[in-house]
Amino acid sequence: MEYHDKLGLSRERFVDLAEQFHDDSYRGRAYRRLPDYRRSVEKGTVLVGGTVVRGFPKIPRCLVLDEGIPQQFDREIAVEEKLNGYNVRVARIEGDILAFTRSGIVCPFTTHKVQALVDCDRFFDRHPDRMLCGEMIGPENPYTTADCYDVDSIAFRAFDIRDRESGDSMPVAERREACEDLGISQVDLFGVYEPTEAVESTPEIVDGLDERGREGIVMKTVDGSQQLKYTTSAANQGDLAYAFTYPFDYGRAFAFRRLIREGFQSVEFADSEAERRERAHGVGESLLLPMIDSIEAVGEGDRLGERHTVRAEPRVVDALLDHFREQSLSIDIERDRRVEGQRVLTFSKQIQRSTDKIDSYLDGTIVKE
Ligand code: ATP
Ligand code: MG
Repeated sequence: MEYHDKLGLSRERFVDLAEQFHDDSYRGRAYRRLPDYRRSVEKGTVLVGGTVVRGFPKIPRCLVLDEGIPQQFDREIAVEEKLNGYNVRVARIEGDILAFTRSGIVCPFTTHKVQALVDCDRFFDRHPDRMLCGEMIGPENPYTTADCYDVDSIAFRAFDIRDRESGDSMPVAERREACEDLGISQVDLFGVYEPTEAVESTPEIVDGLDERGREGIVMKTVDGSQQLKYTTSAANQGDLAYAFTYPFDYGRAFAFRRLIREGFQSVEFADSEAERRERAHGVGESLLLPMIDSIEAVGEGDRLGERHTVRAEPRVVDALLDHFREQSLSIDIERDRRVEGQRVLTFSKQIQRSTDKIDSYLDGTIVKE
């Protein structure tokens, strides 16, 4: 079978699409990846060693649970926690375990970590043609900054097992049992509900998650074929704070969408007058406080950057730095030490546009707007 067959595309369609794939390689193994969404093929889809590793599909969202759930689902759904980390798909290709990030890049750090955290060989002996999908969470990782989990360094939580070529999910119950059997940690399951029951139960679940600073829920038909997500106020405001730390790098659409979510949630969750004020206060602080900090920092001569710490064997950290170099990312090393044979590196990814813009406004640049 050729790639186009495996993707379910005609040869002609595939020829058009092929130009959108980027060439990449990992330890001498060439692969091609689709960095953006295209019609009919998921972002992050990879062609490697004659097989396809499908991208993880975009999960639609509702702004109102009450109408959104029955709109999306007409049968039983499982409600699971949505974790705030980074998406990883793990596949075994010609005997090698590879961990792909959202856009289909093989990440050397994640590839190493996932094998330390999960018994991948046992998984793929049982499920050779599947991919294990999950979230990497915890404070010590090179991509995300959420730190609301009881994880010291980094952890993997499974949320899906899919056929790597078709992308079809294993049913939720079967997947949870498969992970349980193999000792693979997974996302929490809150319950299985009929859509009308889910409408009743989810606001309380979301409230509970919000209080713990967690991100939200993903609802899935029990066969795993359809999904829907919904996020907490804590996540919305956390994202806003993040975006306004780098006010000229994050798109306006990114911030706007999160503001709108807060408005709809306030109405659906029937905030009292006091709760509305509290939410408004929270939104305002999320926008303004990080921005003010950033302006101040640039005023003092700092460069803005997104700080991360990673902890791994020295060769793994080296491989990660090489990987960043290949991607032309600008990294400032802030701290570099050895702890019990591990290299613990704190670095910051330079955020250029916001630094430059703030700098120029502080220098008195006149704007006509
Ligand atoms: P994209 O949809 O392109 O991944 P996004 O930033 O909009 O980007 P999110 O809002 O984070 O994505 O929501 C989708 C992501 O949530 C999934 O890609 C997955 O990594 C993550 N996720 C966390 N927990 C779960 C879960 N229980 N089930 C499914 N996905 C989950
Ligand atoms: Mg996410």
